[in-house]
Amino acid sequence: MGHRAPEIEGLIGDTAARTRRLLGLSADFEVLFLQGGGSLQFAMIPMNFSAVGDRVDYVDTGYWARKSIAEPERAGRDVAIVASSADRAYRYVPPAASIAARPGAKYLHVVTNNTVEGTQFRALPPAGIPVIADMSSDLMTDAFDPSACAMAYAHAQKNIGIAGVTLVIVRKSLLDGITAGPRELPAILDYRTHAAHGSNYHTPPTFSLYVTWLMLGWIEEEFGGLAALGTVNRRKAATLYDFLDASPFYRPLAERGSRSVTNVTFTLPSERLHCRFLEAADKAGFVGLAGHRSLGGCRASLFNGVTQEAVDRLVGFMDDFARRNQQEALSE
Ligand code: PMP
Repeated sequence: MGHRAPEIEGLIGDTAARTRRLLGLSADFEVLFLQGGGSLQFAMIPMNFSAVGDRVDYVDTGYWARKSIAEPERAGRDVAIVASSADRAYRYVPPAASIAARPGAKYLHVVTNNTVEGTQFRALPPAGIPVIADMSSDLMTDAFDPSACAMAYAHAQKNIGIAGVTLVIVRKSLLDGITAGPRELPAILDYRTHAAHGSNYHTPPTFSLYVTWLMLGWIEEEFGGLAALGTVNRRKAATLYDFLDASPFYRPLAERGSRSVTNVTFTLPSERLHCRFLEAADKAGFVGLAGHRSLGGCRASLFNGVTQEAVDRLVGFMDDFARRNQQEALSE
């Protein structure tokens, strides 16, 4: 089947239509399906929306935010970190209302959900310039307000499918403002190329797109939209945070007002218990509870594919583990 066959063109069109319905997007937005993951977006954003020497503003909230900042720095942009949570080890996010961009800055970039640290913005900053949001780990997990951003993007592999496709929603007015010429901007890295070709400029990742189409259809049919899915996701997170808060054994890492709904980070009383916990979890069928290699600790990711029942079982396992190891914890 060729990638310009009606079946594939139809799949791309239907996936875009589902995206528009779920996110409530007007015709002011382009919906694009690209490759290269969140990381390629880090590089494409400064290439498309600024020139060498231009001011571009970033919010530093941890591991992925720093990766996003490294790209415009490499590309000779005048980068400013206009807000940061480095002072308290990235355990919180700065209040959105307090974030202001510099005059003349081309855009403000923010990572809405910090997958590694387990922190999350509840709202986007009212920057007065185009706000670009990396929503790789929280787009399509709760109700969405498109009026607050000029562009948002998310790789599919967390909440809307499998690796290989990255969803970008971008205002047409932002694309109209691109001034970079072909010397600075190879066609494949130019958002306008993909907009002009309906995300079918070159062979798209068809199977990944198909899975995203299924996921978005599941959200529509099972929940009727993002608001109801958000209620389910917030309940999942509350189950785990309530347990952690009540436990003298585990300690949640993120500060209360900044806690992520999709990534719950926590620590155990000692390194020894941490290792024993991960081993026991693995044996019990709970895989991937180790924290990101840059941070340590533990992390339970509660993306769209994780059910309330799975969270209840995890809490049951954690409670049991804490009881069995309470004595050792007290002697640490
Ligand atoms: N942004 C965020 C918030 C992420 O969590 C990740 C990866 N987990 C990335 C960007 C990088 O995405 P990719 O691996 O698709 O390049």
